Amino acid sequence: MHIKELFGKKTVFSFEVFPPKKTSPVEVVYSTLDELRDLRPDFISVTFGAGGSGNSRYALDIASRIKESGITPMLHLPCINFTRAEIDAALSEAQERGIENILALRGDINPDIPPVEEFRYASDLVAYIKSKGSFDIAGACYPECHPDAESLVEDIRNLRKKVDAGADHLITQLFFDNEYFYDFREKAALAGINVPIEAGIMPVVNTNQIQRMVTTCGASLPPKFVRIMTRYGSSPEALRDAGIAYAIDQIVDLVASGVDGIHLYTMNNPYVARKISEAVSGIISV
Ligand code: FAD
Repeated sequence: MHIKELFGKKTVFSFEVFPPKKTSPVEVVYSTLDELRDLRPDFISVTFGAGGSGNSRYALDIASRIKESGITPMLHLPCINFTRAEIDAALSEAQERGIENILALRGDINPDIPPVEEFRYASDLVAYIKSKGSFDIAGACYPECHPDAESLVEDIRNLRKKVDAGADHLITQLFFDNEYFYDFREKAALAGINVPIEAGIMPVVNTNQIQRMVTTCGASLPPKFVRIMTRYGSSPEALRDAGIAYAIDQIVDLVASGVDGIHLYTMNNPYVARKISEAVSGIISV
């Protein structure tokens, strides 16, 4: 099933999971998948490390497992550190396993790994996958601008290249202030980007995540978010409940504003995914 066929009929609702570290068995994710499957998302995407072959085998195995459970899988595929032959191998294997949906990515540039650069930008990979004919292709986008871009205008110009190369739909980087998403969506439309855009929502439910948000992720932290994290940060249960409530609040507002889809960064936490799915199930089916 090509994911692009879902848009326009309903608010698409999808999950993202990540493979375990290569020192852990892949089975640790399978029980998570069993619980996520029961929530009947429209698709589940699986991340894929850009840094080398480490857990890439797991990503394909997890995508296959999702398919076997009756849910449509999407495989992330970063290109900056891979040769054309390696990309070909991943695509062939995906095809053999019946995985029809690819999120084509550049991947972050690691200062310790010289990029292969056979594919320099995600748009190069999108065009290459498109030339193969049979895949549904998604791309990433950044409501608050990609960190390497000089400006949001330049980033959106580059995004247009990715869509022109064949990206069928887009998924955003996480954000905590919906106004950034609305502003980005309007600018993208003005730039002639008319493919569906799913909003990436990350429920922040523990202090490690708060720390990571503050240090590594470029997302702005609105005062309401900071107040909640400050007030409940010392109580794991209160923080979890507040983080879930914040994500639900974001989703309700996005759906009311006609978002094409919600992509939930589940962080492999089925409890959180269940709480949010149950809270928004009536809203996303309207
Ligand atoms: P690109 O679209 O290539 O953009 C990268 C930069 O180059 C931007 O600044 C852009 O403006 C610029 N640019 C693009 N095209 C051109 C051009 N033609 N000329 C000049 N400049 C250009 N990473 C992983 O390693 N594995 C994952 O599984 C993964 N999953 C992700 C899922 C989502 C939903 C998102 C939002 C990100 C994900 N990432 C993942 C992170 C992503 O790989 C990084 O954000 C990376 O830095 C950029 O990837 P991209 O595909 O957006 O790159």
